[in-house]
Formats: sequence, C-alpha cells, structure tokens
Amino acid sequence: MRDATLSGIVLRESQFGESDKYVTLLTHEVGLIDCMAKRARKAGGALAAGTQPFCYCRYTVFEGRERTFVRGCDITESFYGLRNDLRKLTYSCHFADIAMDIAQEGEPNEDLLSLLLNALHLLDKTDRDPEAVKAAFEMRAACVSGYRPEAGLCGLCGSKGPMRAFDFGSSAFLCGGCLGGAMAGGRVVALTPGAASGIARIIGSEGKGAYGVGIPDDCLREISEFAHMYLCDKMEREYGRLAFLGKIT
Ligand SMILES: [Zn+2]
Repeated sequence: MRDATLSGIVLRESQFGESDKYVTLLTHEVGLIDCMAKRARKAGGALAAGTQPFCYCRYTVFEGRERTFVRGCDITESFYGLRNDLRKLTYSCHFADIAMDIAQEGEPNEDLLSLLLNALHLLDKTDRDPEAVKAAFEMRAACVSGYRPEAGLCGLCGSKGPMRAFDFGSSAFLCGGCLGGAMAGGRVVALTPGAASGIARIIGSEGKGAYGVGIPDDCLREISEFAHMYLCDKMEREYGRLAFLGKIT
C-alpha cells in the first residue's frame, strides 16, 4: 500500500508531540492499522474532527518508510453523542477494548466491524438500554472471534433442553437432567430457562440481528453477567472498565 483510501473507525488515540496523534483504526480493508495524524490536535485543523475516538470516516492514508500517515478524512458518522455522555462513552470504550483484542493487523473482520458499528449506533441514536447492547455485543464478539458455543444441544446428553446451566470446563450448555451431576466438579453456572433461551438466540443471530433479540427485563442482568463472564473466560482477561459506572451512578 502506498496511497490508499480506508473506511474505518477510530478505536484509540494517543498524543504525540505538540499537536500530533496516533490513531488505531479498525478498517474494512485491512483490519487494524496504526496511523500518525499530523496536526490532528490543532483545533479546526483538517484532521481534528475525523480523528476523534469512534469517528467513522473514509481516510486517505499514505504509507511512509516507517509509518502510515493520515492525509485526509471524510466523516461518514461522527457518533458525536457518545463523547458527551459519560455512561455511553464508558460503554463505547469497553466495546473498543474488546475490538482491539479481537481485530488483527492486515486482516479484515467485517463481522466485528459491523457488530461494533451497530452497537455504537444503538447507543448514540436510540434509547436502547446500554446493558442490553453490551450483553449482545459481548456474546457475539466471543462468537466472531471463534468461540461460538453450541447453544442448541446439551453438552452431556445431547438433548435439546431446555438448558439450565453452562459448564465453563467443557464450554457446553447443560440440560436440567444433567445439571445435578455436573455441579459437583466443574465451573458450572446455573441459568434460568429465560436467560438460557435469550443467550441461545443471541448466539444464533448474525449481524445486527443480535441486537434485535428481545431480552425480557427480568433476564437482562443474568444474560449480561453471563456474556461478560463468557467473553472474559475466552479472551483470558478481565474487562473492568464498566465497574467504574457502578461508582458514579
Ligand atoms: Zn443433558
């Protein structure tokens, strides 16, 4: 790549020098890419608006000898509202942390980019409960990174359920009949039938359909906690950014 046009979203920025910044973009064309944006921190500069976190733009980039430079940008969607609401911003940063871990340099990941853009759209433009968006994002993020559990069959007896638990040891859902025997040894989380059903529907939904799964209010917390636990287990790290929200609300 010499000169190129990339469509993507700013996942992360870091200041450099007096007026420059590095941005990490998640793009349709090349997956993750780090770019230098010269004078992007100068108010009113050509790159100032389009290099803000969560801006989705068409970027003109130039590959220099040692790094790639952003030369211009044309904003497709600024997601402006996300940067002016602390709660929405915290959720957005949480999504970006996860996307940073899943995305790879040089490898497009349309499923991940679509999952992220839809989540940010729902946060910014609708009154959808951020916790419901987060639950679907986390569960589907684990799926698109290669950790999609079999949600339709009990991992022990093969029956179609209803499922009543998830065994983290074997990464399998368990039906009510198998729950008792499994609880003794492994890392097993019990699930209510409503939550197990909601989780299965999210897992089975492609694209933005995951956000259209109607999650009953009385199951939301359970599904959200499970999605978080499942993602952290598969990614082998703790995503703790949302704990901050509990301290300010
Ligand atoms: Zn079973």
